[in-house]
Amino acid sequence: METRKYIDCRDQPASKCTLKISGTEDEVIKAATAHIVSAHEQKDTPELRNNIRLALKPEWPDRPNPIFDTEPMV
Ligand SMILES: [Zn+2]
Repeated sequence: METRKYIDCRDQPASKCTLKISGTEDEVIKAATAHIVSAHEQKDTPELRNNIRLALKPEWPDRPNPIFDTEPMV
């Protein structure tokens, strides 16, 4: 299963927006481009999409408490 990535608008210093979008890389880039164009009045350019791609961070799946994942060390 593909690891989801996320982009968090709060990471952008100029943004007062709190939106966080997560999904596969292509999904996030599409949704984030639409969001940035409509909410942040920027133009949809290859540079914008490239900047979004660079700002993506991996979203680790929810895991149970790691204590129960590991064998006890004896
Ligand atoms: Zn935003």
